[in-house]
Amino acid sequence: MRPSSKAVVALGSNLGDRDATLRRAVSALRATPEVEVVAASVPIESVALTVDGLDESKPAYLNGAVLLATTLEPVALLDQLNRIENDEGRLRVERWGDRTLDLDLIAYDDVVLDTERLTLPHPRAAERSFVLEPWLQVDPEAAIPGSGPIAPLLAQLSDPVSRVAGAARLDADLADHHTGATP
Ligand code: ATP
Ligand code: CA
Ligand code: CA
Repeated sequence: MRPSSKAVVALGSNLGDRDATLRRAVSALRATPEVEVVAASVPIESVALTVDGLDESKPAYLNGAVLLATTLEPVALLDQLNRIENDEGRLRVERWGDRTLDLDLIAYDDVVLDTERLTLPHPRAAERSFVLEPWLQVDPEAAIPGSGPIAPLLAQLSDPVSRVAGAARLDADLADHHTGATP
């Protein structure tokens, strides 16, 4: 078997019950063979990004990030992300259009790759607070190959993100199963 690699996945939703969708997606990742969810962020909210820029008239996004340990190679992991998107009814209509679920592979170890199907690291991660903020939550020491540590990158950005008051980490429902607190 391949040695375990470290991968970061960004989650986004701006249609339907966004919070429930993100939590189901984390649950689906947990259930995926050869994928372990090491850490999950809390959900944050961001203004929709369209081909014309930030658009406050579109439904806002709920975003998050998960840190994975996986023995799947990058494209096989992307296949699993696409499967989970499809299970959530993801339709591909227009570029950067509204969607129930978007799962982007942001980084995979220090792999640098540029194919039609997959670019690593994700080419727009470094300019998106809605990616870097939850990523920083799950991996404070993270760096983007070619761009450097994410903490100073995030500090330079101005696209607005906001915390959701009282929201639990996206893997909280799953963690609760181990507490045995409820009958
Ligand atoms: P953005 O990539 O700017 O966040 P998006 O997520 O809305 O835009 P999609 O329509 O979900 O874009 O995906 C477009 C294509 O991007 C997909 O066909 C996929 O194969 C490709 N792609 C390339 N690199 C990646 C990556 N690192 N993670 C996910 N998809 C990727
Ligand atoms: Ca995306
Ligand atoms: Ca995507």
